[in-house]
Amino acid sequence: STPRIDVVSIFPEYLAPLDLSLVGKARTSGLVDLRVHDLRDVTTDRHRSVDDAPFGGGAGMVMRPDVWLRAIEATAQHRPDPSAEPTTDPREVLVLVPTPSGVPLTQATLADLATTLASPDVRAVITCGRYEGIDARLVERLADTPGVRAVHELSLGDYVLNGGEVAALAMIEGVVRLLPGVLGNPESVVEESFSQPLLEYPVYTRPADWDGLEVPAVLTSGHHGAVQRWRRDVALTRTARRRPALLRELAVADLDVRDRAV
Ligand code: SAM
Repeated sequence: STPRIDVVSIFPEYLAPLDLSLVGKARTSGLVDLRVHDLRDVTTDRHRSVDDAPFGGGAGMVMRPDVWLRAIEATAQHRPDPSAEPTTDPREVLVLVPTPSGVPLTQATLADLATTLASPDVRAVITCGRYEGIDARLVERLADTPGVRAVHELSLGDYVLNGGEVAALAMIEGVVRLLPGVLGNPESVVEESFSQPLLEYPVYTRPADWDGLEVPAVLTSGHHGAVQRWRRDVALTRTARRRPALLRELAVADLDVRDRAV
């Protein structure tokens, strides 16, 4: 079955970029099934309200857990064409909840997600919060809702955005490029930043001399071994300067003798 991700938001138009570029192509060629839903479609009142005032006081509004649960459950229904009866997707659901208080999203998380979605019995739903976020009981309830495989609260980083849509786009773009058949050259996934706990080395293209700025000589030397060594050295020094904590994750077995010189 095709890996499937549903996104629920009060601003479905925010997800329009999913039609573009690599993700858009993966969609049209049937490598991934992405569906965007309006949270307000499952509201039952005249005002189509999705939020209410926070218990305990404080600024802003909180999103209602009942509306969210209904929206997540409704994603299971799909109608292959408008005249057909809706059918139910039998797959279990992995719910991804973007929140600044979640576990930081990493390349390892994305790789796990890609593996999970490639299996035939799981699909994912991303819940895009707004305002002060979603009533905390939603996650609690989902944990014992039949058909829910797991719930992951994930953060894009230590900063606050207005809503979960940008996080959903980041998760989808990060995961779709790891799905089988999406990237022309799977090698490019192996070499880039974080597939090892190292930042990627800098890259260059023509012209070799651009306005007096020259490409590092080793790259035009034709000496493959020297190029590899140079790239590794720059990756190590960059990581040490910019992200020293990453170096601690580098396994001793992944170091070679010459790394010590750096
Ligand atoms: N009051 C919340 C807090 O301090 O944790 C912030 C809510 S934020 C204004 C509204 C929504 O944006 C969140 O529910 C979440 O969906 C999304 N969001 C904001 N920052 C995010 C981040 N760093 N990572 C993931 N989602 C984020």
